[in-house]
Amino acid sequence: MSVARPNLGAMTVTLDAGRSPEAESGTTAPETTTAAERTTAADSTPRRPSLSPSRAADFKSCPLLYRFRTIDRLPEKKSRAAVRGTLVHAVLEKLYDLPPAQRTVEAARTLVDPAWAELREEPGISELFEAAEGAEAPKAESLEAWLASAGELVETYFRLEDPTRIQPEGREELVEVTLPDGLLLRGYVDRLDVAPTGALRVVDYKTGGMPREAFEGKALFQMKFYALVLWRTRGVVAAQLKLLYLKDGDALTYSPDEAELLRFERTLQAIWTAIERAVATGDFRANKSRLCSWCDHQALCPAFGGTPPPFPAEAAAAAGWRTTLPVTAAN
Ligand code: SF4
Repeated sequence: MSVARPNLGAMTVTLDAGRSPEAESGTTAPETTTAAERTTAADSTPRRPSLSPSRAADFKSCPLLYRFRTIDRLPEKKSRAAVRGTLVHAVLEKLYDLPPAQRTVEAARTLVDPAWAELREEPGISELFEAAEGAEAPKAESLEAWLASAGELVETYFRLEDPTRIQPEGREELVEVTLPDGLLLRGYVDRLDVAPTGALRVVDYKTGGMPREAFEGKALFQMKFYALVLWRTRGVVAAQLKLLYLKDGDALTYSPDEAELLRFERTLQAIWTAIERAVATGDFRANKSRLCSWCDHQALCPAFGGTPPPFPAEAAAAAGWRTTLPVTAAN
C-alpha cells in the first residue's frame, strides 16, 4: 500500500506503508561506505578539498565531527551494521552483472558468500566476528546469523523492484562537478537508470529502516546532492530519486525540479563557506546530538569533557585547504 504525504517544498513524495520502531525513533546509525567508495578512494582522490553528501551532513550535524573525519582523518571503528550494509551493496551491485533473466532471489543469495569472502579481507572486518566468538562478547550474533540477516535484506530488495526489468547505466558510480564558484562536489550513486526517453532515475539502497517524517529531509539531502551534480553535468533534472529501505521493505521517492536544485546548490555553497571559515580559523564547534551515540571521538570532544588535539594546520594546508593558522601549529 502506498501512502501519499504532503509535498516537501517543490518535491513530490510518496511513501510505502510499514515502519520499524527503530526507524520511527529517527535514530538511524550512519550509513556505510559502498564498495566503490572503498576501492576507488585511492585512485580517485580529489586534487583539492571537495564536498560529498556524507561530509556535508557531518558538518551540518557537528562541525567538530567533520573536522575529526575530514581534516584530522582520525580512525573509526567499523560496526557490524555498517559492514552488513557494505556487503548488501556489493551483492546488489554484482546482481546486475548477471543477465536479466538470471537475476533471481536464489541467485542473489548465492552472491552473499563470495562477496563476504572478498570483504572480510579488508582491515578490521574479520576481527569484528573473532571478538564475537571469544569470551568477551558471548551474546553477540554469530557470523552465520549475521550473514543470514544480510541475505534477508537482499531478499527484501526483490519486494521493492524487479531486477529482471532494469538495466542500469551505472552502479556505484562516481559523479562530480565543479560549480562556477569553484566548489567541487563529489559523490557515489548506488545505481543510475536511464530510460529510452533520456529520463534519469537515481537509486540508493539503505539497509536501515525508513526514517520518520521529521527526518526525511536528512535522507533526501543525499539524493538532492546527486540530482544537483547530474543536473549540472548532464543538463537533465532527474525524473525520480528513489531510496529503498531494505530493513522495512519501504521506498521513498522524490521528484525534484530546477528551482529546488538551485536552492539546494545555494545551501551547499553556504555550507562550504562555513567549512572554509572553520578551516581558516581552526574553529570547529562540537554540537551534541543523538549522533553522539555513534561517534567514536567522545574522548576528544569538549561536549564529553575531552580536549581535541591541536588543529593540524600543516596537514590541512598540504591537502589544499586555505588556513590562516601557522602551519607549524601541527603536531
Ligand atoms: S561526540 Fe558528538 S559533539 Fe562530540 S564530536 Fe562526536 S558528534 Fe560531535
